[in-house]
Amino acid sequence: MKAIRVHQFGGPEVLKLEEVQKPQAGPGQVLVRVHAAGVNPVDTYIRAGAYAAKPALPYTPGKDGAGAVETVGEGVTSVKPGDRVYVGDCLTGTCAEYTLCLPTQVHPLPEKINFAQGAAVNIPYATAYRALFQRARVLPGETVLVHGATGGVGIASVQLARAAGLTIIGTGGTDKGRKLVADQGAHHVLDHRAPDYLKQILDLTGGRGVDVILEMLSNVNLGKDLTILARNGRIAVIGSRGSVEINPRDAMSRDAAILGVMLNNASEKDLASIHAALGAGLANGTLRPIVGCELPLAEAARAHEAVMESGAYGKIVLIP
Ligand code: NAP
Repeated sequence: MKAIRVHQFGGPEVLKLEEVQKPQAGPGQVLVRVHAAGVNPVDTYIRAGAYAAKPALPYTPGKDGAGAVETVGEGVTSVKPGDRVYVGDCLTGTCAEYTLCLPTQVHPLPEKINFAQGAAVNIPYATAYRALFQRARVLPGETVLVHGATGGVGIASVQLARAAGLTIIGTGGTDKGRKLVADQGAHHVLDHRAPDYLKQILDLTGGRGVDVILEMLSNVNLGKDLTILARNGRIAVIGSRGSVEINPRDAMSRDAAILGVMLNNASEKDLASIHAALGAGLANGTLRPIVGCELPLAEAARAHEAVMESGAYGKIVLIP
């Protein structure tokens, strides 16, 4: 089968399309024919060798994907050949024609969600769900700022928050991205590059500030976030690409909480709960993954470059 292989950590050019042996489903395993693979920023950190948990070389990248169950190993009863599934992590990488998974890593994909959309579900939606409901513990009626709403996690956050009865302020860096955020249900959309957008957030909340912030670029925004938070506000730190200085008094004066979010830390029970909620949302139409760019598998390097560029517009997926 065709697969992307990484033989040494480095830039996007280390992603090579190769012919490798098709895996077989052993006992307790599921083989999935991958129809689309999701590309997430974490894939680039791993490829660069900058991520704490490094895979043994060579490896096939990709944690997210969607496709149809090809075969199941002995003892697997939760899925059967032909079932449409989205993949949330796997044993052999999703940037390939086939990927081997554990039964807990495959989740039903409703007919109305196509495979490219299915590849956009796992990391973005699971992270958004964990940040909103398991970490920040949002309540209907609260106001949430999705700080970086145009990308994978941002769009998922807007749709989940909208379905849960929150008031949403989303931000984006381009007109096209901001229109997308509005179309997905944000009540207000602002430009995170505009000099006065923090004041606009305070104005939108009558000076009170927002209850919750989902932060995609904490190294740039955390200090500012603390100044636009309501009393008892919570900041969910989802993305950060460096260090930042904050004034702790801004947190003290608001009884504010800064909450780390790391999807990898979710327990089996947390993940089961997350995927049950996502399955319900995909089925009832409140969750509609947005794919901004589909590329052939051979262009994995281009996808890794694009996911780190500004001007996000939903998800980038690779088609094997
Ligand atoms: P993405 O699709 O590349 O989107 C990046 C987002 O950041 C875009 O909405 C982008 O907006 C926005 N952004 C750019 N400059 C910004 C600024 N100055 N202020 C606020 N937002 C800004 O990435 P993603 O998949 O959504 O992931 C977002 C971040 O979360 C990444 O750093 C990723 O590594 C991290 N993440 C963490 C976890 C976890 O478990 N903690 C899980 C998933 C992702 P424009 O392009 O419109 O400017």
